[in-house]
Amino acid sequence: MSFSAAIITLFPDLFPGPLGASVLGRGMADGLWSLEATQLRSFASDRHHTVDDTPSGGGAGMVLKPDILAKAIDTVSPDGDNRPRLLMSPRGRPLTQARARELAMGPGVVIVCGRFEGIDQRVIDARGLEEVSIGDYVLAGGEVAAMVLLEAVVRLIPGVLGGANSHADESFENGQLEYPQYTRPQSFEGVEIPAVLTSGDHKKIARWRAEQSLALTRARRPDLLVPAKS
Ligand code: SAH
Repeated sequence: MSFSAAIITLFPDLFPGPLGASVLGRGMADGLWSLEATQLRSFASDRHHTVDDTPSGGGAGMVLKPDILAKAIDTVSPDGDNRPRLLMSPRGRPLTQARARELAMGPGVVIVCGRFEGIDQRVIDARGLEEVSIGDYVLAGGEVAAMVLLEAVVRLIPGVLGGANSHADESFENGQLEYPQYTRPQSFEGVEIPAVLTSGDHKKIARWRAEQSLALTRARRPDLLVPAKS
């Protein structure tokens, strides 16, 4: 069974966008994963296809209505669908490589994209939506955030990226940032490739890379080296 992503959005035409390019697009064409974007507005029953209303208690902007969203979620993800239901949200738990890997091993995801001021709390609670953030900043809508999440997840689906080992060394996979990479030419603007990398001594290369990873992580992201609090 392949990984299937369902997106609920006011802008389905934005998908697959960048997710249709390169290796992810090829993985989709090969049936390793699929994506279906559903127009939230099509679940509105009034003449104007209203999906939002003013915030209870006052304040700026509009809020997505819970009844319309619930209908969309129940249609896209009926009882028995075991895909996790995510809501892209700056209030959510920040996305990590570990969560991306978990999701990639599962059956897929159902993703709700917010717009305006956000969505009514009652549908978040009633449908058990897991709020996921892509960082501490505020976007105009959940669509780009959903693409970020899917891009991180889909590249980890077995078979999407060639080479079984190609993730093992990457940033965050072992709690550290990746070592610097080099390729030919041997000399670029007078700077040579570090000699160890062209030495052919694989033990020395592995040691050099491990040292570089640690030094970079210490300098840039010391927080990664502190054992995570549980
Ligand atoms: N008023 C809300 C922000 C709404 S932004 C607040 O202060 O929390 C509109 C929509 O963009 C959100 O519903 C969410 O779906 C999406 N969004 C904005 N920033 C995001 C982020 N950092 N991560 C994930 N989704 C985000």
